[in-house]
Amino acid sequence: MKCYLCGLDAQKTDEANGGQLIECSDCGTYRVSGLVLKELEVKAFNFPKMRDDLHRQRQFNATLVAEINTETAIWV
Ligand SMILES: [Zn+2]
Repeated sequence: MKCYLCGLDAQKTDEANGGQLIECSDCGTYRVSGLVLKELEVKAFNFPKMRDDLHRQRQFNATLVAEINTETAIWV
């Protein structure tokens, strides 16, 4: 599949709650919630802001997996 943020090739793993775990060599690993995936059908992420936020989440939470859910998603 293509990364939802940068559009490069990425690995996708479906998760039980309807979300997906994305591993992109450029954006890192992030989880997209099922609700956000639905919204993605009609909206697009604000790529620079979203990437900054993923970076901030990883520093703040000391985790490698950043979350894109309805609270953290930044749309164009
Ligand atoms: Zn990417």
